Amino acid sequence: MRNIESIYSTLCTGCSACSNSCPQNAIAMKHNGYGFYIPEIDYNICIDCGICDNVCPIIDHKPSTYAIWASDEIRMQSSSGGFFSVIAEYVLNNGGVVFGAAWTTSIFVKHTFIESISDLDILRRSKYVQSEIGDSYKKVEYFLKEGRQVLFTGTPCQISGLYSMLGKNANTSLLITLDFVCYYNPSIFVLRKYLHDNYGIENIASVNFRTKKFGWISAVMEITLKNGEHIDINDMNDPFFLGYFNGYYAREACLKCKFASFPHKSDFTMGDFWKIEQHDSTWNDGLGTSMVFANNSKANKIINFLKAKFKRVEKVPFDWIREGQHNRHLPPQNKQYFNHLLRYKSFNDAIRMAYNSIYDVGLVCVMNYKNYGSAITNYALYKIIEDCGKSVYIIRQPANSDIKPTAPINFETFNYPQYSLAPIYNNIEDMKVLNNRCKQFVVGSDQLFNYNIYRQISGFIKLNWVDDLHSKSAFAASFGSNRILSDIEETLSLKNNLLRFKHFSVREESSISFVKNNFDIMPEFVLDPVFLCDIKHYRCLTANLRKHNVEIFSYILDPQENTAVIIKDISDRLKLSVTAVTDMWRDKANIESCWNLPTEINFSNEKWLASLMNCKFVIADSFHATCFAIIFNKPFVVIPNKQRGETRVLSLLNSLDIDTKRVLYNTDVVNDTEYLLNSINFDEVNKKLSILKERSFSFLRKILELDTLVR
Ligand SMILES: Cc1cc2nc3c(=O)[nH]c(=O)nc-3n(C[C@H](O)[C@H](O)[C@H](O)COP(=O)(O)OP(=O)(O)OC[C@H]3O[C@@H](n4cnc5c(N)ncnc54)[C@H](O)[C@@H]3O)c2cc1C
Ligand code: SF4
Ligand code: SF4
Ligand code: SF4
Repeated sequence: MRNIESIYSTLCTGCSACSNSCPQNAIAMKHNGYGFYIPEIDYNICIDCGICDNVCPIIDHKPSTYAIWASDEIRMQSSSGGFFSVIAEYVLNNGGVVFGAAWTTSIFVKHTFIESISDLDILRRSKYVQSEIGDSYKKVEYFLKEGRQVLFTGTPCQISGLYSMLGKNANTSLLITLDFVCYYNPSIFVLRKYLHDNYGIENIASVNFRTKKFGWISAVMEITLKNGEHIDINDMNDPFFLGYFNGYYAREACLKCKFASFPHKSDFTMGDFWKIEQHDSTWNDGLGTSMVFANNSKANKIINFLKAKFKRVEKVPFDWIREGQHNRHLPPQNKQYFNHLLRYKSFNDAIRMAYNSIYDVGLVCVMNYKNYGSAITNYALYKIIEDCGKSVYIIRQPANSDIKPTAPINFETFNYPQYSLAPIYNNIEDMKVLNNRCKQFVVGSDQLFNYNIYRQISGFIKLNWVDDLHSKSAFAASFGSNRILSDIEETLSLKNNLLRFKHFSVREESSISFVKNNFDIMPEFVLDPVFLCDIKHYRCLTANLRKHNVEIFSYILDPQENTAVIIKDISDRLKLSVTAVTDMWRDKANIESCWNLPTEINFSNEKWLASLMNCKFVIADSFHATCFAIIFNKPFVVIPNKQRGETRVLSLLNSLDIDTKRVLYNTDVVNDTEYLLNSINFDEVNKKLSILKERSFSFLRKILELDTLVR
């Protein structure tokens, strides 16, 4: 009998949702004795799919709920109350086949089938990892066609997969499906990494997640080693359990699971009847109680039929199930961070760091400064440190700064994962909590020590909020034009704080004496981070822009009519078109008053980078555009910009032995096509660059306290 029949004479409204949904047209809407419409089922064609019950807006869709004990012997060998074993025995005794998840000898989990009660134990007990289905569904189909009864057990999504594969028209009358209340299923690799790092996977003989040695408890793992030793893990703070219960191993589909809530597709859903003793103390005898939902009338019939096989079975109110047990909520925080850590940390370290939100390096930086070079430099340093196997927490300027940490970032795609971003703090005082999050602090690059920027970011880069226990460093710091801060008091404060730094490096050679003379520290010279970053990250950033083709890419921060003349001359000479981009602070009207050259202002960081990567020739007055011309081995000329970068560019060319004739003091070279295009020996430049890179990496190694640099 279907549930809709039980409401014919009481609550049925005659809405006809059931008759309209029946795939067999088995429901006719008839008149009852008073002339009202009620459904009538033709059981000759009904296929027992349950759709009518499910669509009925009146029926309470909560399934019948049972508390169940199998025999004590079975319960001792099962995770909960042994319901699975009783129903499996019923099917096997009928000559049927039982499918379920089993361990392999090499510690993987696969679905398999059994045909004999003597094999039942291989399917028993929960394995908290995703089972490999293989061709099990096809085998189910085969056995059903053979006329054998089949019990298929698995996760709710596996049961849905099975029904989908069998198709709507399959005859499923011989199929019984049994899923469970599914918190979620980790991948086998997570478990294997845990076992490997803690015990050596090659030493493991077997894993039992739910030993009942200590009673019926949710997480007690027994690991048996090949040498016969048994290791009992009876601690919720064990790294595997800590990660499991915090949702770290869930795949995205599990976080937004469509299958683990009612109505289930399966006939039965089973689980642990935790806290049942709060309703009836006689139900918890320490050996385990199954919570079983009969999701349809077929399931209810089977339970009634098997009544005598259970030690105890009772229909109980649905409300007895513990709050949250079925409407599970996985906390997604730190899952991505854990996954990221797992790539290069031991399992236990990855769990500990993710759980306590601990990061190897707090990267103190301004990630959203409106400047292509600055934004990409910051991203480059983030990637370099990460590639060294260190987790990075990006620490932005406090909210009360003039340059707002929340200002938009000019990347088309936000490339920093959420877990890498420290919250934005209101002020310097509040930032002190970061001492509990990061093992050390590194101040990033670009002109953060330039007073114009320094004062607009609350001077937070002097790290006066970091305590003495944490190491403080600066990598490739830049003071811009090497001007001392105009405020004497602030200069003194900066000096006192810089004296607390363990390592200090600058990216301009000219800053070495400046820093030494003004702050009494001897800095190291290192390359700008853009040189050290693996080029694959630039390719990633520009992956969608492979077809963004540019001939001459001109990036001039300060457009002027005479500069435009040079650009046009070079373009005519080389017979190449120009794509001109300028500083993103400018507006169109302002540019038109500076020069008469069509100019873009709305490039994203990615497009700016792709232009440099894909072009044939670069014309720049900017330090970073010159850097990238060198990185991508593009012929270039520099039009010197006395206010913004001339010294830096000259120093860079000098250190790489690049002829400064291409700094256009002398415009003669404009007429020399051969010189423009072919005079840089990039093989030699790259060799020199790699020596400087090695030196810079070696300094970074010191900062990060790495014995060998992972690259
Ligand atoms: C990954 C996972 C998450 C679970 N989450 C919860 C939960 O949040 N709350 C709750 O009350 N119960 C949960 N359970 C169910 C519970 O742990 C018991 O498995 C269930 O109550 C059955 O117990 P039993 O004593 O009847 O039989 P047992 O003999 O313990 O059950 C074994 C049955 O589980 C199946 N099985 C075991 N591991 C897997 C697997 N990895 N994939 C597919 N099928 C598997 C076997 O095929 C077999 O049918 C979960 C089980 C698993 C495997
Ligand atoms: S869907 Fe439910 S309320 Fe509507 S006609 Fe069918 S049984 Fe009655
Ligand atoms: S169970 Fe399915 S086939 Fe049978 S009456 Fe309901 S909707 Fe129709
Ligand atoms: S949580 Fe959902 S998607 Fe994940 S294993 Fe369980 S049923 Fe499948």
